[in-house]
Amino acid sequence: MVTAYYTCAKSSSQQIRRNGHSGRHARYQCKACGYQARFVAAAAQRK
Ligand SMILES: [Zn+2]
Repeated sequence: MVTAYYTCAKSSSQQIRRNGHSGRHARYQCKACGYQARFVAAAAQRK
């Protein structure tokens, strides 16, 4: 079973909260460092 969660690209924190959305993508903000971006679920990333 794969659990989808979001991580901050800067601090690697998982304390992400949704902060509105931009276009078709939700925007998220890191509560740890304040970094704000379109976060992608780590488990859903393709290499
Ligand atoms: Zn962060």
